[in-house]
Amino acid sequence: MSVDARTPTIEVRNPADGHLVGAVTDHSAGAVDDAVARLRRHQRDWEDLGVRGRADWLLRYQDWLVDNAARLTDVVQSETGKTRFDAAIEAPAAIDLLKYWTDRGERFLADEHPTPHSPFGLGKRLITSYRPHPVVGIITPWNLPLLNPCFDAFAALLAGAAVLVKPSEVTPLSAIELARGWAEIGAPPVFTVMTGGRETGAAVTEAADFIQFTGSTATGRAIAASCAERLTPYSLELGGKDPAIVLADADIDRAAAGIVFGGLFNSGQVCISVERIYVEAPVYDRFLASLAVQVGRLRQGVEGRSFDFDIGAMATRGQCDIVQRHLEDAVARGARIVAGGGVVDGGRFFEPTVLADVDHSMACLTEETFGPLLPVIKVADEDEAVRLANDSDYGLSATVWTGDRQRGERLARRLEVGAVNINDAFANLMNYAVPMGGWKQSGIGSRFGGPAGIRKYCRTQAIVGPRGPQLGREPLWYPASKRRSMMITVLMRLIDARGRRRLPRWPG
Ligand code: NAD
Repeated sequence: MSVDARTPTIEVRNPADGHLVGAVTDHSAGAVDDAVARLRRHQRDWEDLGVRGRADWLLRYQDWLVDNAARLTDVVQSETGKTRFDAAIEAPAAIDLLKYWTDRGERFLADEHPTPHSPFGLGKRLITSYRPHPVVGIITPWNLPLLNPCFDAFAALLAGAAVLVKPSEVTPLSAIELARGWAEIGAPPVFTVMTGGRETGAAVTEAADFIQFTGSTATGRAIAASCAERLTPYSLELGGKDPAIVLADADIDRAAAGIVFGGLFNSGQVCISVERIYVEAPVYDRFLASLAVQVGRLRQGVEGRSFDFDIGAMATRGQCDIVQRHLEDAVARGARIVAGGGVVDGGRFFEPTVLADVDHSMACLTEETFGPLLPVIKVADEDEAVRLANDSDYGLSATVWTGDRQRGERLARRLEVGAVNINDAFANLMNYAVPMGGWKQSGIGSRFGGPAGIRKYCRTQAIVGPRGPQLGREPLWYPASKRRSMMITVLMRLIDARGRRRLPRWPG
């Protein structure tokens, strides 16, 4: 990749081995403004293509993603240090998501023709129309560098918006590939990627018409404040501290296997990773033993396209330091290491680690870890599990493990989180028909979830016109008249008021 020697650049290294894998431009605020102005110029034509015309382009783009999936997976691996297994899911999930939206976009974005709520409106033809925000700015983190931009860009593009993606400065290369693909298929210039750090992101927040942010709660708060200055609408997908609740009637080995996956996929660097495990006392020892055995079998390492490893590298040294700090704090406060427990290869990897005898005084239960740490807590019963699970500033998602589906659903409704998976982890993320969004400090708004997931990129417009022949004047128009005013008041009461006592009397 060639970058002008005079422009500020950001080096990208493979965290698994430290090798330099690329360098990208650190774009200035002025460059972001220019990019947004360019997008604005082309957006109207894109909107005028209609949903079907835009879906045609997105399906050609889907072909490109399918044809390039293996190469894209190489790029993801090169900048994240993920295992092949973890990296290989990003392109197929993006392809699946594109199909979800292109199959349904026309229906979800069609005009609605509501029936007037009152006989007074019967002479009117009502239309609710969905018109895109012209330029949508998408700011993404480093953990799923190919998929994160796709999660939001596809729906925004199909809605008729032009899209600017600002990927994480840690992993910008996958997003650049996405922009390359869009240009390669010859699609209209309504999708662009601007690389850079915090200041580039702040410039996007100031220039775009809608901000879709995925990242930490602290940055989300800064973006919300910036958007408030300009009254720019936004949607935030933030951090989490997802609890798992294992009930005594669960299939214990399956629960442990699911939690190993849900807590350690991508080295635990997923917003919806399992980060706290509450286990009912009668099965606590059995669960802990099963968890330790299953974690002990995991193979850690990264080797090109080989599928021989389960757990890859940490994305950054800083992330590794957070996991180490949480582990040390827990051990200092009395927690016991049951499996794993150490930094490997000078901080490039962190061993998958199981902690027992953990409580809520420890940072690993209150702060987001975003790493391969599985703290297990013994609880007396379901009520204590719910109380502790809800004792968090975060409310992204949760898992419940039980042999009784109805009990699981009842328990789900007591949890203060945006999604609950029963006897599985991450299932809500792969089922686009349901919304994915955080409660409390985990976010505002949601993605996916049927019509709402694409209409969020639109402004709703009401169009109210005549249904048939019109009167010379509408009854409320001037000049003022006591008779017409009374007539309207009486009719409204007749139609709307409850009970005989409130039936209208012609006022004196
Ligand atoms: P981060 O908040 O540090 O950075 C995210 C993005 O915001 C980056 O592109 C960064 O350059 C940009 N940014 C930083 N400061 C900015 C500012 N003031 N204005 C505009 N943009 C700015 O997050 P991260 O470390 O890259 O990612 C990890 C976090 O992301 C974790 O907290 C994780 O839980 C969260 N996350 C959430 C979801 C979700 O869907 N809820 C998904 C993935 C990750």
